[in-house]
Amino acid sequence: MTTAVRAYAAHSPTSPLGLFKLDRRSPRADDVVIEILYCGVCHSDLHSVRNDWGNATYPLVPGHEIVGRVVEVGAEVTRFKTGDRVGVGCLVDSCRQCSACGKGWEQYCESGRVDTYNSVDRLDGRPTQGGYSEKIIVSDAFVLKLPDKLDLAGTAPLLCAGITTYSPLRHWKVGPGSKVAVVGLGGLGHMALKLARAMGAEVTLFTRSPGKEADARRLGAHRVVLSTDETQLDGVAGRFDLIIDTVPYVHDLNPYLPTLATGGTLVLVGYLGPLDPALNSAPLVLGRKAVAGSLIGGIAETQEMLDFCGLHGITSDTETIAIQDINEAYERLLRSDVKYRFVIDMASLKQEAAV
Ligand code: NAP
Ligand code: ZN
Ligand code: ZN
Repeated sequence: MTTAVRAYAAHSPTSPLGLFKLDRRSPRADDVVIEILYCGVCHSDLHSVRNDWGNATYPLVPGHEIVGRVVEVGAEVTRFKTGDRVGVGCLVDSCRQCSACGKGWEQYCESGRVDTYNSVDRLDGRPTQGGYSEKIIVSDAFVLKLPDKLDLAGTAPLLCAGITTYSPLRHWKVGPGSKVAVVGLGGLGHMALKLARAMGAEVTLFTRSPGKEADARRLGAHRVVLSTDETQLDGVAGRFDLIIDTVPYVHDLNPYLPTLATGGTLVLVGYLGPLDPALNSAPLVLGRKAVAGSLIGGIAETQEMLDFCGLHGITSDTETIAIQDINEAYERLLRSDVKYRFVIDMASLKQEAAV
């Protein structure tokens, strides 16, 4: 038994997204049925739809920055009830048994995490489909509680952009006195500025876009460095304990290494793939510097991040769109023409014909 809901799907890397009849499973005993109110538009949605990572299966319903309202719960669910405001991020399941899962690192599950879309459900083998849809059905262990006071649309991007930048900030123990830099001011970058600032760090933005300085300062940066300007790079030599690099495409990392302090780390969260030009290991060896990577965050850490944002009044800066505008929004995302996250108002899906 399945229930048909309206959704927007891609059918190939080159075709636009359009209305799609999505069959959701009937709820299991541990499931929470969520009516989706807003869904953020992550650059990963675009990478997936266009098959940039070579693993897309179609039809593909993207969306992993999901907020909504509980409309039904299974018999075993005790943490949620009808009417609760809840969120779902990039993960909907994991093996729950391996050592990574045991540490709360479900995103690094050794048997394979189950992504919110473009993955396979562990129990029924059906493809998982994401938040550009009316409803989603998720096991209660992977559903997040949202802080009461935060604006709902601005909360949606916390479920991916928020946790993806919060997790490395926490892992590398950023706090008062830390010197943090962020590369790229987009969806992830603007959350990184806000979160690092709220943790008490001294915060710098590296950008290739001269027009972003005023915004960066408003969002929490103490300093803005134009990454194309060698003099400006020299001015921050040896400075940063942590650099979070959010750039989605291959780019030269070598100019950033001299700006790390001795023992500092540059963590990649944006680009996946071989580096080009190659990385020069000399600055790493001579200064005990590291280049690392980081993937979203586990469920407990995501809840911690949401609570932190509730406490500090942190949400994303958003531009709300209708689902019918999604293809144009992708083109604008490619041009970095968004301040700083598109969020789909899912009420717009109800204007489409019933499926
Ligand atoms: P976004 O909103 O498009 O922002 C990316 C920013 O990077 C742009 O605003 C721009 O900032 C800079 N940039 C873009 N293209 C560039 C290029 N060719 N060279 C140099 N800089 C460039 O994207 P997002 O949603 O923040 O996502 C960023 C990346 O993180 C994506 O690849 C996404 O798939 C990935 N991601 C990873 C995780 C994870 O768990 N690791 C989670 C979510 C997303 P400036 O104009 O300021 O330079
Ligand atoms: Zn994402
Ligand atoms: Zn596991």
